[in-house]
Amino acid sequence: MDTITSKGTPGPNGTVIRGARVVTMDRDRTVGNRDLHIGTDGRIRSVLEPGTPIDGAAEFDASGLIIVPGLVQAHVHLCQTLFRGLSEARPLLRWLRERIWPLEGAHDPETLRASANLGIAELLLGGTTSVLDMGTVHHTDALFQSAKETGIRYTGGKALMDTGEDVPASLAETTSHSLAQSDRLADRWHGDAGGRLRYAYCPRFVLSCTPEALRGVAERSRRNGMVIHTHASEQPDEAAIVRAAYGQPNIATLRSMGIQGPGTVLAHGVWPEAEEITMMATDGTHVVHCPSSNMKLGSGVIPLRAYRDSGVNVALGADGAACSNHLDAWQELRLAGLLASMASGPGVVDATAIFELATIAGARALGLSDRIGSIEAGKAADLVAITSDAPVASGGGSTYTRLVYGTRATDVRHVWVDGHQVVRDGALTTLDLKDTMASADAARHQVAARLGIDLDAD
Ligand SMILES: [Zn+2]
Repeated sequence: MDTITSKGTPGPNGTVIRGARVVTMDRDRTVGNRDLHIGTDGRIRSVLEPGTPIDGAAEFDASGLIIVPGLVQAHVHLCQTLFRGLSEARPLLRWLRERIWPLEGAHDPETLRASANLGIAELLLGGTTSVLDMGTVHHTDALFQSAKETGIRYTGGKALMDTGEDVPASLAETTSHSLAQSDRLADRWHGDAGGRLRYAYCPRFVLSCTPEALRGVAERSRRNGMVIHTHASEQPDEAAIVRAAYGQPNIATLRSMGIQGPGTVLAHGVWPEAEEITMMATDGTHVVHCPSSNMKLGSGVIPLRAYRDSGVNVALGADGAACSNHLDAWQELRLAGLLASMASGPGVVDATAIFELATIAGARALGLSDRIGSIEAGKAADLVAITSDAPVASGGGSTYTRLVYGTRATDVRHVWVDGHQVVRDGALTTLDLKDTMASADAARHQVAARLGIDLDAD
């Protein structure tokens, strides 16, 4: 991977990025013209007044660009990128049982890797530098290998599915095997690539996991501090089935198994009961808002204002391409803002608060707020430079309004992760896009053929 520099050669004292307007997302939410000194270790050494001389540093010209912290998506499914468009017009449980689970079960390591590469290409090109991923049940090493080679900051793990209605044999596992595989993968990958790769326990949701599996990951996470990533209360029928089975609401059920607290990330949380929001605020449990997915699967609208007013940390994610059809954090930000206005009135959750979802709040959810989520000395140089030279960028007012409501993935010019430039002038440096798309296409045909799915059917 290339180290950042405009000429391809870093200085002995790193690189200075000059000329940009920087949205720091620091405590004071400082926005202004700043230069950024990036050390050879990939960390931000200092945020400088423009023109400050730095001896021995290469210079990177970012004149006219806006630099923001690398965006964080705290809920994605890289294993589903190949399945875009293959499970349309179904509510959640049918969407899973009729198509997505069988498709996931038809992956082999090569098709899974092709799916991950395709997803990461879209993510990096759009300025997402960190993800929390839910893997599928098998072949999880392929996901980590892809993340390692492409340069994205990746936290994820194998999905646990040791019970549940209509879980295909290709995915169902015993509890002990699921947990043993999780242990093996955590040992192998957690902390790899200089800490850029991290393991997360991923019990898929209450309906696919035994209490033993849920308690098993809770106990592990308590011991080793690794993140737990699961789905909860996405749709009313899912919540109702959990309540019928356990005699208490979904999020409360997870809590009773020990899945709660600052190491727990719940995707969706569209249908929490009032006391569950209080529990989450008390425990420090995170929730991830997935606007496109929630709208497309007809799940509902997250009570964003209630979560925020209660002090629950809310992050953002595009979910999988099989439900949202894209992995673009900018679209998710815009939709989050629009939905908040619809639900609570314009400005009640303002653009700055919405932008936090994909930056500092996302970093918090991943347990990485000391490392990413803002542009400050000592943090990793995970940065995104976007153009101001587009019709949609022309206008006045708040920079946050521009970022949330008027920025597109195609406005992203440069992206760095840990100081390595992974997108330069709108092109990937770690993947060949044409090859990535061709491999994904071939892999999609292989997986579909295994299930007899006609890819050309409308
Ligand atoms: Zn999901």
